[in-house]
Amino acid sequence: MKADKRIYLDHAATTPVLPEVADAMRPYLTDIFGNPSSMHSFGQEAKRALDASRDTVARIIGADASEIYFTSGGTEADNFALIGVSKANINKGNHIVTSSIEHHAVLETCEFLQTAGFEVTIVPVDEHGLVDPSDVEKAITDKTVLVSIMHANNEIGTIELIAEISRVTRERGIPFHTDAVQTVGAIPMNVAELGVDLLALTAHKFYGPKGVGALYVRRGTRIARLIHGGVQERDRRAGTENIPGIVGLAKALEISQDGIEERARAQAELRDYLIRGLIARIEDMRLNGHPTKRLPNNANVSIQHVEGESMLLSLDMVGIAASSGSACTSGSLEPSHVLQAIGQPFEIAHGSIRFSLGRSTTKEDIDYVLEQMPPIVERLRSMSPLIG
Ligand SMILES: *Cc1c(COP(=O)(O)O)cnc(C)c1O
Repeated sequence: MKADKRIYLDHAATTPVLPEVADAMRPYLTDIFGNPSSMHSFGQEAKRALDASRDTVARIIGADASEIYFTSGGTEADNFALIGVSKANINKGNHIVTSSIEHHAVLETCEFLQTAGFEVTIVPVDEHGLVDPSDVEKAITDKTVLVSIMHANNEIGTIELIAEISRVTRERGIPFHTDAVQTVGAIPMNVAELGVDLLALTAHKFYGPKGVGALYVRRGTRIARLIHGGVQERDRRAGTENIPGIVGLAKALEISQDGIEERARAQAELRDYLIRGLIARIEDMRLNGHPTKRLPNNANVSIQHVEGESMLLSLDMVGIAASSGSACTSGSLEPSHVLQAIGQPFEIAHGSIRFSLGRSTTKEDIDYVLEQMPPIVERLRSMSPLIG
């Protein structure tokens, strides 16, 4: 049976490109195709779009245009921040501080840096996924060259105490990077208020195109280039700029700012309606992540005695697209590093499911989920080898 209803509740994975964003990009795919490094009028037209986009991004996050570097997305921005700052400060030290719930783009880069002689301290999180700023303070040594703590977690939605952590890093004069991929475009953003020195964002998480992002680097922060070649992006990121993508990123970011607080409030209300509804209808279920310090669109729950991936497949059959925190690898169920970090017992973590709401999500969509979920859970539990 194929459902005629299709409800997308996986906006933390990616979002559709808004029609206005596609419209803004279109001329730069066809008519205005010049290379911004070219001196002729074709190139200069593209260069103007590049400059205007950079100004837009800078203005919205409270930065200067000279502090914005366009990248191929969030993953590259994180790699650039970690590898670039580490490399530029190699004469100062070889120690990095991060958290146990970072995105793979940060954790895997830290592992790579370990192979290059860096030492990494991974600070723990509490049961809600919150990093204690005093743990960051304790982890810092006189060899620390970078602290990287994400703004909000993509799986469980917890929003970290970035401004508090930055007070610690400021005092010690250590560069502080935050992966803000889940928060940019979702909640108001200002790099000065956060007190960060580097901040990563990506367009496809806020209704822009895939394959384009940016890294904010505070003026005076030493950073080495990651991608070698030409002198684009002030000699810090080589390669002909993705002009249509960059124009789309700036347009999507601009649109996201319109009514951002009201939208976040309305989304948080729908999110809580979903969470409350699930709790009322399903036994042995718990909410993952912080009860209040969480992304307005994130509802992540663990349901005992069901397997997350079976639940996803059953939901997909009735037209609901969600995501799971457990991956079925070689027959064994390995819960995500985030669920492990918040101390979830195996038998609970493997039944985790994430709903991430978006602009198009309605109360009717949530009601449909609340209607479909209980019988699915009941059926899976009745078949489960995990009971008894
Ligand atoms: C999606 C995501 C990334 C990766 O961004 P890409 O643009 O897909 O490379 C990094 N960090 C977080 C927290 C994310 O949610």
